[in-house]
Amino acid sequence: MTAVETDLTPLLDEIEAEARKSIGRGKVADYIPALARISPERFGMAVCGVDGSEYVAGDADICFSIQSISKVFTLELALKIVGSNALWKRVGREPSGNAFNSLVQLESEQGLPRNPFINAGALVVTDAITARTVSPVLQLLGSVRRCAARQDIYIDEEVAHSEADHGHRNAAIAHLLKSQGNLVAPVEDVLSVYYRQCAIAMTCRDLARAFLPLASGGQQPITGEKLMTPLRAKRINSLLLTCGLYDGVGNFAFRVGIPAKSGVGGGIAAVIPGKYAICVWSPELDELGNSLAGTRALELFARKTKLSIF
Ligand code: GLN
Repeated sequence: MTAVETDLTPLLDEIEAEARKSIGRGKVADYIPALARISPERFGMAVCGVDGSEYVAGDADICFSIQSISKVFTLELALKIVGSNALWKRVGREPSGNAFNSLVQLESEQGLPRNPFINAGALVVTDAITARTVSPVLQLLGSVRRCAARQDIYIDEEVAHSEADHGHRNAAIAHLLKSQGNLVAPVEDVLSVYYRQCAIAMTCRDLARAFLPLASGGQQPITGEKLMTPLRAKRINSLLLTCGLYDGVGNFAFRVGIPAKSGVGGGIAAVIPGKYAICVWSPELDELGNSLAGTRALELFARKTKLSIF
C-alpha cells in the first residue's frame, strides 16, 4: 500500500462550503417518486485512500440511492460470470452522446447498446447476470458488500417499487432489446433485478470504499481481498472516463479530469488510480442527470489537490 497525502478534512470542509453554493440551481430527480422526497440540502463527501485513510465531510454517513452507480458493480460481476469476450459481443465501449435513457440510438444501431452505463447497455449487463445465476440480486449484493468491505449494505425496496411503478421507459428499452435478440432472460425478470440494483442504499463512505479496488489495481485494501485483475480495474476506469456521465462526460473530463460514475440519486463515485476513491452526494441534478454540486465539489477537489489523471 502506498502512503497518500496529509489530513484532507479541512480541505473537504472548504469544498463543501463552496460546492453548496450550487444548491438551488438544479432539480432533484422526480421521475422516480421515492427520490423526489430527498432534501436538496443534503451534501456529503468521502475520500478513501489506498493506504486505508478516510476523510469525510457533511452527510457522508447518510444512505442514499446509488442508482446508476450500481452499473459499475453489475459490470464487474457480469465480466466475472460470463467473461469479457461474451459480454463485449453484446454491448459496446463507446460514449453515447445521448441521454442515459434514450431509445433512438438503440433502434438505429440494431440492439447493440453503445456502452454498459447507458440504461440499454446496463439492462444487457443485468441480463447477463440474470440469465446465468439463480439469485442474481443476492449475488450482486454479495459482490457490492465485498467491494465496500461492509456486510450490512441493503436494497431500499420502496425505491425499487417506486421505479418499477413508473419504469415505462426502461420497460420500453428492455422490450426493444428483447425484440432485437439481445436479452436472454424474460423482460420482467431483468427489469426486476435492474430496479433493485439501482435501489441499493449506500453512504458516501461506503461507495468510496467500494470504489477503492478500482483505485488499487483490483484489490480491496481494507480486507486485502483481490476482487479483480489490475487489467480489469484499468479497463473499468477507462469506461468510467469515457462513458460514466452519459452525454455530460466530455464536459466532466474537461472540468474534473477524473474517471467517475454518476447516479440520479445525486451520487458521483470517482477514482484516482493509485491514490483515492471519492464519493460525493448532492441530490440536485443538472439537465443531463448528473449531480450539480457534486460535479462542482469534484472539480474543486481536482483543482485544489492537483490530482486529476491528466
Ligand atoms: N434507475 C435509473 C433509471 O433507470 C438510473 C438512472 C441513473 O441513475 N442515471 O432511470
